[in-house]
Amino acid sequence: MKLDVNALRYLSKEDFRVLTAVELGMRNHEIVPAELVDRIARLKHGGTYKLLKNLLKHKLVHHDSSKYDGFRLTYLGYDFLAIKALLNRGVFSAVGRQIGVGKESDIFEVLSEDGTILVMKLHRLGRVSFRAVKSKRDYLCHRSSYSWLYLSRLAALKEYAFMKALGEHGFPVPTAIDCSRHCVVMSLVQGYPLVQVKQLQNPDDVFETIIGLIVRLAEHGLIHCDFNEFNIMIDDNEKVTMIDFPQMVSVSHRNAKMYFDRDIECVFKFFRKRYNLSYEEEREQDEGSASVAGEERDKLRFSSIEKSAGFLDKELAASGFTRKNEEDIQKYIEGEKEGSDDEYDDDDDDDDDDEDNEASDSEPVGVQISSLKMADEPEESSGCNVVGDKEPLAPGNEEGTADGSDGSEEDENDEELTKRLNKERKRAIASAQGRRKLITSRNSYKDKGRKSSLNSKVQRQALQW
Ligand code: ADP
Ligand code: MG
Repeated sequence: MKLDVNALRYLSKEDFRVLTAVELGMRNHEIVPAELVDRIARLKHGGTYKLLKNLLKHKLVHHDSSKYDGFRLTYLGYDFLAIKALLNRGVFSAVGRQIGVGKESDIFEVLSEDGTILVMKLHRLGRVSFRAVKSKRDYLCHRSSYSWLYLSRLAALKEYAFMKALGEHGFPVPTAIDCSRHCVVMSLVQGYPLVQVKQLQNPDDVFETIIGLIVRLAEHGLIHCDFNEFNIMIDDNEKVTMIDFPQMVSVSHRNAKMYFDRDIECVFKFFRKRYNLSYEEEREQDEGSASVAGEERDKLRFSSIEKSAGFLDKELAASGFTRKNEEDIQKYIEGEKEGSDDEYDDDDDDDDDDEDNEASDSEPVGVQISSLKMADEPEESSGCNVVGDKEPLAPGNEEGTADGSDGSEEDENDEELTKRLNKERKRAIASAQGRRKLITSRNSYKDKGRKSSLNSKVQRQALQW
């Protein structure tokens, strides 16, 4: 799916107000009746229908008149709401090139106001295999297209919460900066996915570090569940950073041992094949360290690791990620595995324009760097930006209004959470900046000039606006 952020600049306050109204309406309508959109938007001078037409033109909403005249958000519409909220919070001011296309995510560079390059990950659950999930619709309570956005939001929140908690416990992960809807903002890892690294100077060290991480995660009560060469980044000093957390599970999960063994096996296999490492054999041949070898192998046995499930629960809750959220997303992930051989069925076209679905972590797709200051938008959030942080696309019964004034308890809690998150975000940005300064990149020839050219382009554009 193309993300043309330029269109953001042409959208007025009222456009966003109506887009927000559609989002709010989707709390309890798969397709939001046009007149409900109008009621929620409460535009002073009317004109909701005209604005809906404009949103439709930009593919931010989808029109459905099969049962009644109604609308729902597309992923692009959801992208715009998230990006707008993050812009208003001052997390970034420009969107740069796309640096990754995952099976269920799109990854972009973004530029913070002080010139730091950060990473924005847009989750797109269901993009590839959402049609393989008829059986899973049950738990989604038949809220099919609504739910893909909801599940993507959960994936983003989970990723943000885990990244933050793991970072606080000293794990090498990107710094979690902020999260809105299905979008997570984090620091940029200066390095490459291990899969792209043909040679290592110290493959044994890297291997041991990685295996050590899996063990340490388990000691903290967690299993990554997708610990492979695509989700391990490595910099020029062969420092390892792990990424991609939406599928993590607790060590108390019923399949925990299987997931743990699979993560370990995956790393073994890769190092054996790519770097000709024969870890176990080496240790066994070394007679002098036979007992060490035994101990080492023991460490890799799930049953002999001292695990403490629930260790990170408090931290996760502090980011707003609840047990119920985890249950919902686990149901999706597990259903996904079971149903992955099913066939596509085209009855749900949430991603109308998803021609380029290919799962690949390799070639970046060029996207114009765009400063996103809008001519007619004040910097601070205004009535229509409410969307802001209420993240209304969660299951709920309140209809609310597009200025977010439904005053529910949930919103009050959200406000408190938002305040806390704002504080955290500032800290995270500061730490991301600190981290950037520390990194010296030997491979930087590959990226030479990227930051400065990005900056100058952005600045030029910003001046024009
Ligand atoms: P997916 O869930 O779709 O696999 P990932 O989080 O693994 O998404 O990201 C896909 C790719 O995007 C990664 O392999 C990596 O190349 C790039 N990427 C993701 N996060 C970062 C980051 N913080 N810094 C640099 N590159 C990143
Ligand atoms: Mg990945």
